[in-house]
This record gives sequence, structure tokens and C-alpha cells, in this order.
Amino acid sequence: MTTIADRLSLAQQRIAAAATKSARTADEIQLLAVSKTKPVSDILAAYSAGQRRFGENYVQEGQEKVVALAKQCPDIEWHFIGPLQSNKSRIVAEHFDWLHTVDRSKIAERLNAQRPTDLAQLNVCIQLNISGEASKSGIVDEASMLALAKQITGLPQLKLRGLMTIPSHEDEQQLRHEFGRMQQLYRTLQQHYPAVDTLSMGMSQDLELAVEYGSTMVRIGSAIFGARDYSNKA
Ligand SMILES: *Cc1c(COP(=O)(O)O)cnc(C)c1O
Repeated sequence: MTTIADRLSLAQQRIAAAATKSARTADEIQLLAVSKTKPVSDILAAYSAGQRRFGENYVQEGQEKVVALAKQCPDIEWHFIGPLQSNKSRIVAEHFDWLHTVDRSKIAERLNAQRPTDLAQLNVCIQLNISGEASKSGIVDEASMLALAKQITGLPQLKLRGLMTIPSHEDEQQLRHEFGRMQQLYRTLQQHYPAVDTLSMGMSQDLELAVEYGSTMVRIGSAIFGARDYSNKA
């Protein structure tokens, strides 16, 4: 039987192999373990194997896990990677270290106002809707990306870290096209804001390709924790 620790190690090996293939080093790519829908015991298993970065998609579920593990695992870095409604932004501002899905100025302003001043700045990525699919959220063009970036860098409680995307997963050619465009947009953003250091892209099925196109943070769920059961989600 493979354990979470085994699968975590396999995911790290995949990242390392992909890095080598692109003449990069494995330490340029961070692994975010996506634990949505999974129990706290699974997070603890990954934590015991050395994992410290975890991603959650649902506000209430995420909050419960952050609170449940605060004492036992104080050095976990919590990333919120799901869509965020304005009326739930306070929970993210108060409990998470990172938010990958900023896509409008209103939410940035709310998060800035709601981030407790005794916490470090909230690290944020701008979400790009790189495939342009109506079902996906995110900014669709460079000008809007730069406008939102400018706004975020003027907000004292937020720290702009980079870009995030969920591609269309149509076929490899389309995926290459979308990841390639993300890489260009990331370079443009870095030219304007040299402190930007995060390109959040790549999931269980496409992490190798994402690394080839410059990803610095891959978000891996099912390859570590197994298939998800959504039967209890609305
Ligand atoms: C669920 C999720 C992931 C992880 O997906 P897997 O295919 O299970 O690796 C990554 N990013 C986001 C935004 C997700 O919602």
C-alpha cells in the first residue's frame, strides 16, 4: 500500500525530474500540497513527512483546519486557492498566509482592510483566466493584470507575489499555449515589479509541463492524497 509519505516523495521526484529536464533546479519549484476535502489526519501525515505548505479551496473547511492545527503545527504555511466571495474575505484575511485567487480590486481592498495588523502581510497572487473560458474566474488581459498589480502594491497589508492560473486541460498543444502565455505575462509583471517571485501553475496531471514553462509553485492534490470525494459538497 502506498502511503501519503510515499506519494509526497513521488511528487517531489516528479518535480525534480521535470526541473532537470528544463535545466532548472528542484529548489526553484515549491510544492503546495492541496488538501481540500481531505481530513486533518491526512495533513498530519504529510506534515510528519516534512511538508509545510498546504492549500485549501473552501473557506469554512479551510478555517476549521487552520484552527485545528494551529497549536500542533504552528509552522504550516496556509494557502487559500479557491474562489473567494467578498463576504468571506475576512476569514481568509485572518487565517491564511497566502491567497492565490485575487481577481478584482474590490476584494484586494477588503483583504487589505481586514488583514490584522499584528500578522505579516497577506501574500497574494493575481489569478489569470488564461483559457478565457466563461466558467473560470480571473483576469483575462495584460492591461488588467498590470492595473490590479499597481493597486495591490499600494495596499500596505498585502504583498504581491505573482500570478496563478488554472488552465483548460484541453490537450497538450493548448496547454503549452496557455502555459507559454502565462510565462510571458509573468515576465512582464516581473519587469514592472522585480520583487515578484511566484508563478503558481501546475497540478497533479500537468506539473511537468508547468515546470517546463517556468512554474515556481505547483499545486498537487490527488497525486498526494488520492482521489477526492465531493459527495458531501453542494
Ligand atoms: C484542487 C486544486 C488543485 C489540485 O488538483 P489535483 O489535480 O488534485 O492535483 C490545484 N489547484 C487548484 C486551484 C485546485 O482547486
